[in-house]
Amino acid sequence: MKLRILLYLIVPAAVLVVASCGRGNEPLRGNTYLLGTVLNVAIHDGGYREELIEGMFDRVAEIEARMSTSTADYDTTELLAVNRAAGETPTSVSADTYEVLQEALYFSRLTDGAFDVTIWPLVALWGIGTDGAALPDQAEIDTARALVDYSALELLPDRRVHLPTPGMGVDVGAIAKGYAADEAARILTEAGVEHALLDFGGNILLIGNKPDGSAWRIGVQRPDGERSSFIGVLTLSDRSVVTSGPYERFFEQDGVRYHHILDSATGYPAENGLSQVTIIAGRSIVADALSTACYVLGLEEGRALIESQPGVEAIFVTEDRLVHLTEGIGDRFELTDSDYTLAP
Ligand code: ADP
Ligand code: MG
Repeated sequence: MKLRILLYLIVPAAVLVVASCGRGNEPLRGNTYLLGTVLNVAIHDGGYREELIEGMFDRVAEIEARMSTSTADYDTTELLAVNRAAGETPTSVSADTYEVLQEALYFSRLTDGAFDVTIWPLVALWGIGTDGAALPDQAEIDTARALVDYSALELLPDRRVHLPTPGMGVDVGAIAKGYAADEAARILTEAGVEHALLDFGGNILLIGNKPDGSAWRIGVQRPDGERSSFIGVLTLSDRSVVTSGPYERFFEQDGVRYHHILDSATGYPAENGLSQVTIIAGRSIVADALSTACYVLGLEEGRALIESQPGVEAIFVTEDRLVHLTEGIGDRFELTDSDYTLAP
């Protein structure tokens, strides 16, 4: 949060883009701070200019300005307007927001509410990632939990959105980074880019393969380590890789750690023996939604869900340091950290 304020002080009205020219075989790189995280892009084709990256980040900033539910960052956004109008009249939203809500509702249904687009009352109550994060009373949790119900969200014609009960609210925090990465990739691809790597705060999207024709090698984060330490390596092209875990945002109270992926069935952070879930999919929005959903579902149900989705694979890491792979991963994942063991 502090970094964000600092960046706005330096460049008040625009997205700060730090781009460096691709010289020789060096990729053209850019980074900025958006969606509550650091975004990095590396374009490996020659001949592109910083403006392409600036335009791409402007598009991500537009998505954030429409769909953020952070009152710390925005007085209003389309989703804050939808949530404030809950129990009243429908709210008109942009095509962007409507599409993301449609996708989010699809994944809410697919996962039977493990991913729930109407999780907002619980997110707001816990405030994890804000200065006001604290363990709520059980009564407050029960009240908020009763307001979480994706089946009540109405997506009406003419891009109107309605929530029937005051206090209800939508939140796309579990899917927005994926949508933004897909949009960013679309902009690059339409400009002719064939080899690029996007890293949106650990959400990876690969365009094509490396310029030499080989696949990218992507480290899978170690759950208890720094971002830079890996349990293993994925060898992939043209895929998105997204990891969800309890370590991204959390607070501690009385020695207990409370993290930001909430289980609408209990009203508490999801706890089921998982250290993290990594999803590999063609679209980043799919990987983002399913990584959050699988973290809530746990190993058994999560794996069954992923095996039912064509073209989607997963790596589950359990608290006993076992690494469970879905069948289709084959030899694309190589375990490199001897503290972890592949599950039989
Ligand atoms: P990250 O934001 O760390 O990449 P996720 O993609 O898993 O992690 O998204 C977590 C965010 O999604 C939370 O901060 C919250 O806004 C929202 N969220 C939390 N629990 C759920 C849930 N059960 N269903 C849908 N969204 C959720
Ligand atoms: Mg997610």
